[in-house]
Amino acid sequence: MLNLSCPLSWEILSAYVDGEREHFPPATPWNHIAACPICSEACMQIRNQNRLIRSFAPYHLAPRRLRKSIAKTVRF
Ligand SMILES: [Zn+2]
Repeated sequence: MLNLSCPLSWEILSAYVDGEREHFPPATPWNHIAACPICSEACMQIRNQNRLIRSFAPYHLAPRRLRKSIAKTVRF
């Protein structure tokens, strides 16, 4: 569990782990996270939690015809 003695929120740490920093103000102390043992530990917990959730999530492959149809309309 996250030690709450560090001022960064779980939301900020989750954004850091997920690479979704663009939704936060430029002054968000991203550099703090890698240097702080509490935040680093929390990020590791978030990654482990994400991995665990993905391992239980159902995965369904779209039918081949649908995949082909989507591939024709998507430009990379
Ligand atoms: Zn910290």
